[in-house]
Amino acid sequence: MILIDGKKTSSEIKNEIATRVAEIKSEGGKTPHLAAVLVGNDGASQTYVGAKVKACEEVGFKSTLVRLEETVSEAELLQVVEDINNNPDIDGLIVQLPLPKHISVDKVTNKIRPEKDVDGFTPANVGRMTLNWPAYVAATPYGIVELLKRYNIETSGKHCVVIGRSHIVGSPMSILMARNGYPGNATVTLTHSRTKNLSEITKTADILIVAIGKPEFVTGDMVKPGAVVIDVGIHRIEDSSKKSGFRLIGDVKFDEVAPLASAITPVPGGVGPMTIAALLYNTLQSAEKKVFG
Ligand code: NAD
Repeated sequence: MILIDGKKTSSEIKNEIATRVAEIKSEGGKTPHLAAVLVGNDGASQTYVGAKVKACEEVGFKSTLVRLEETVSEAELLQVVEDINNNPDIDGLIVQLPLPKHISVDKVTNKIRPEKDVDGFTPANVGRMTLNWPAYVAATPYGIVELLKRYNIETSGKHCVVIGRSHIVGSPMSILMARNGYPGNATVTLTHSRTKNLSEITKTADILIVAIGKPEFVTGDMVKPGAVVIDVGIHRIEDSSKKSGFRLIGDVKFDEVAPLASAITPVPGGVGPMTIAALLYNTLQSAEKKVFG
């Protein structure tokens, strides 16, 4: 069984990005610049944005954090996005989700210029990805694709079963695995909350990608021996034996599934660490005008 190490792979990607940034700077080029907009004081969102800003520093990017009050109006937030859209020094823009209830996520997402949409959430980038054009692919699916690539996982002709159809993970993952290229060329089954006989389907998967958001949902009896298992889930479980008081588990019952799998991502240390690397990669692509030219 191969343990797919997202922590190691993400630091390799960050090193590659840092090397490229150093080259750009030594050639007198512009430093890549990511702007993050954070609305309100949600603890998890602050942690995520903080980690993104820190990662920018690590690879030599410039970063700007715009913090707005929870009470900011939709019109004010749209104006902030527009100002960043028009700022030629900024290459990438992310608006940390979730947003307060009085603000439409769709409106805000749609305001982001596709050329700066390094989260890959705008209709333009989702469409480009679907057409197999150069696109900013959302961080989690991009991270999974990169893990499959770097671990030389064969995908062509394989049966890939995806559990979950969210816009940020399951749905784009199903598109990427079916597209003509590598990784891709798989025969894909996308399953969701209305799917019947789920375990009959998962048992036929050569590659099983799990993004259901339910702790340890996938058990050993749902997995074909030799399958590649990608666990996207992240859940905090109370654990008094840990200093922090909790531990992280995934959507897959690791102890049961790992002995059966030919390769598997652990939680923590699998898909999770890849997301920030993906965001940095997309920002570098933007700075180098690699996606939209
Ligand atoms: P979501 O809640 O938006 O989507 C869950 C999906 O599971 C839905 O499409 C639903 O139809 C499907 N589903 C629910 N019950 C089902 C059932 N019985 N059978 C089949 N499908 C069923 O979740 P999400 O945003 O895609 O996230 C999934 C998990 O991944 C969560 O644990 C989340 O925390 C985690 N996550 C991790 C990362 C990362 O960086 N590693 C990124 C995003 C999400």
